[in-house]
Amino acid sequence: MSGRPKDIPGIDTRIARRDFVGGVLAASGMVGAAPVRAAQDASIAGRWSGPGGIGDYAAANGNTAEVAAAAHRVRDGEFDDALRHIAGRDDVYDLVVVGGGVAGMAAAYALHTCRGAGGRCLVLENHRMFGGESRGNQIEVDGRIVSGPQGANQTGPYTTGLLGDIHRALGLPMDFAFADAAHGSRPLKIANDHFDWVFKRRKVASVGYYCGSRHGWIGDPWDDGLAALPWSADDKRNLLEWMQSPGGHSAPGIVGTTSDPRNLSEADDPGNEDTPLARWLDGMSYHAFVRDVMKCDPSAIARLVDPYLSNTLGAGIDCVSAYGARIMAMPGVSAADWRRSPDRDFLFSFPMGNAIYPRAMVRAMIPAAYADGGLRTLVFGKTRREALDRAENATRVRLRSTVVRVVHDGHPDTAETVSVIYLQDGRLYRVRAKGVVMACGGWIARRIVADMPEDYREAWQGLHYAPILVANVAVRHWRFLDRLGISAARWFDGFGYATNIRRPMMIDGRSEPLSPDAPTMLTFYVPFLKPGDPVAAQTVDARMRLFATSFHDFEMQIRRQMQEMFGAHGFDARRDIAGIVLNRWGHAFVVPEPGFFFGSPDRPPARAYARRGFGRIAFGAAELQGYQTWLAAYQEGTRAALQLI
Ligand SMILES: Cc1cc2nc3c(=O)[nH]c(=O)nc-3n(C[C@H](O)[C@H](O)[C@H](O)COP(=O)(O)OP(=O)(O)OC[C@H]3O[C@@H](n4cnc5c(N)ncnc54)[C@H](O)[C@@H]3O)c2cc1C
Repeated sequence: MSGRPKDIPGIDTRIARRDFVGGVLAASGMVGAAPVRAAQDASIAGRWSGPGGIGDYAAANGNTAEVAAAAHRVRDGEFDDALRHIAGRDDVYDLVVVGGGVAGMAAAYALHTCRGAGGRCLVLENHRMFGGESRGNQIEVDGRIVSGPQGANQTGPYTTGLLGDIHRALGLPMDFAFADAAHGSRPLKIANDHFDWVFKRRKVASVGYYCGSRHGWIGDPWDDGLAALPWSADDKRNLLEWMQSPGGHSAPGIVGTTSDPRNLSEADDPGNEDTPLARWLDGMSYHAFVRDVMKCDPSAIARLVDPYLSNTLGAGIDCVSAYGARIMAMPGVSAADWRRSPDRDFLFSFPMGNAIYPRAMVRAMIPAAYADGGLRTLVFGKTRREALDRAENATRVRLRSTVVRVVHDGHPDTAETVSVIYLQDGRLYRVRAKGVVMACGGWIARRIVADMPEDYREAWQGLHYAPILVANVAVRHWRFLDRLGISAARWFDGFGYATNIRRPMMIDGRSEPLSPDAPTMLTFYVPFLKPGDPVAAQTVDARMRLFATSFHDFEMQIRRQMQEMFGAHGFDARRDIAGIVLNRWGHAFVVPEPGFFFGSPDRPPARAYARRGFGRIAFGAAELQGYQTWLAAYQEGTRAALQLI
């Protein structure tokens, strides 16, 4: 860290508000403390995880110190002989699900819909609240509550297809209204979510680009053919050529081109469109495609899109396959004509993002978990934790339970049950199951499942997982954006790369505030990129930076970045920041490198092993689709459960 704390506006402000319950914001700092150390000392843990805001997720912001420490103990082999140290509980379930994210809840929900009360299921989740990457944060600001996602935020397109079916089944609305843009000094377009405006250029937000202290702010650079963007003429020419590519690229010996929709269809699961063209794209990085096929210089393109791709595929163009880039509708590889994408805002988000989906599935399986069946309670209300794990429930959800070992009780081909051992409050317990769905990431599944076939384990070892930090910053007002005439900001250097105001969803005729004079939540997605290094080095280095930086240092970076960008427009970090919640995700995204989707000529992709499962164990998580979405999680979790029941 450069810069002394005293230089950062507000860093010496003593913060003692209700929204900071769950953590202590001490100015002394805790540079370099790792989660394992943090977990051993409650006060350090508080300072590493930081304040958690209020509500259901107050003690479950991102991967907390206690959860990260338990995972590191699994990694270090501490539980290899766990069976010898079991404290108790030997219940038998039809299904045990490891992980209470969207995929895990979908697996439990599949059993619930197939068998109703006739199927006994236990979901084991290591955090203090379920939801995984689909959880939320709330902060109270001067008596008003503002919300944001901890991770997954965007849903849609509106309620068509599978999404519509799920909404209907879970009693979620089929139509939505959002608060009207506020009475600012001028009309602003405000997006319904955090991602749609960033790259695809749907005109759903009034966008400004901050180009550093020398050049300041410009409008959307694409509006004037990049004229105002203070980059070199070569970089701008490259960007324009790339962006305006008509597609139509083909490989020798392969029929069809990348812009022919018949060759590359918009498949439900991307990896299902197994064509020679798809395999060709999956055989190279997008960087190589841009350089060798599109004949563009990739460096400016990387600068523009790497943060965005890292926020969806875990890494930049040097790491992700050209097929992965196609899923993200990148120029040259996608049949989707992004330039004609409509201004219509058909992607949207709930106040706490996709937290709604695991909550809705829990409500369907355990109605007593919520006070009533209304949408407001589901979105904002308190989950009754005491109802989640009652003996009489057909589906039980057990929180604060880290699964450390899963093994068949006998040979996988003949065993009738699987033992699942988990750690809770420092003690080990065992349950048995007729089937187990591993609805957690492969990075930990491969260390937990003791009798996993060696080729499965090897395949998974080849995958890399990238971390991300999601910082939710509650501000007392956003007049500084209003003065700039923007609702969404992008920048290229410093902390994060983008943030924006969202139109809050109307629920029962009311919404969270939407006025420049009222508080709002600004969400920053912060990848830790180091383009050019091998992907293994990039992801490990990024994780070290995420884990070794204290709350205090991240707070300084946030204050400095916001003050630099908005200070001249009426923002004062000391006065205007009301609260910060950090969500650290150690293994946020699998990186779909070349070969991720279709493997190589002599080896199937790792995900093919995972989808096969073995014995009484099935694997299902969003990562198996390469581009992680809540729908992918739902599909993979459901598929895994149906394999077993
Ligand atoms: C920053 C970010 C932004 C995103 N934005 C979007 C978006 O806008 N829209 C979208 O659709 N998707 C988005 N996603 C993708 C997200 O991955 C999926 O939407 C979905 O939430 C993943 O669900 P999952 O169940 O597969 O995995 P997870 O959410 O990771 O759930 C796995 C669960 O298992 C738990 N677990 C792990 N190990 C153990 C263990 N040993 N014992 C017990 N429990 C364990 C984990 O703590 C976790 O709760 C985003 C992801 C991130 C990180």
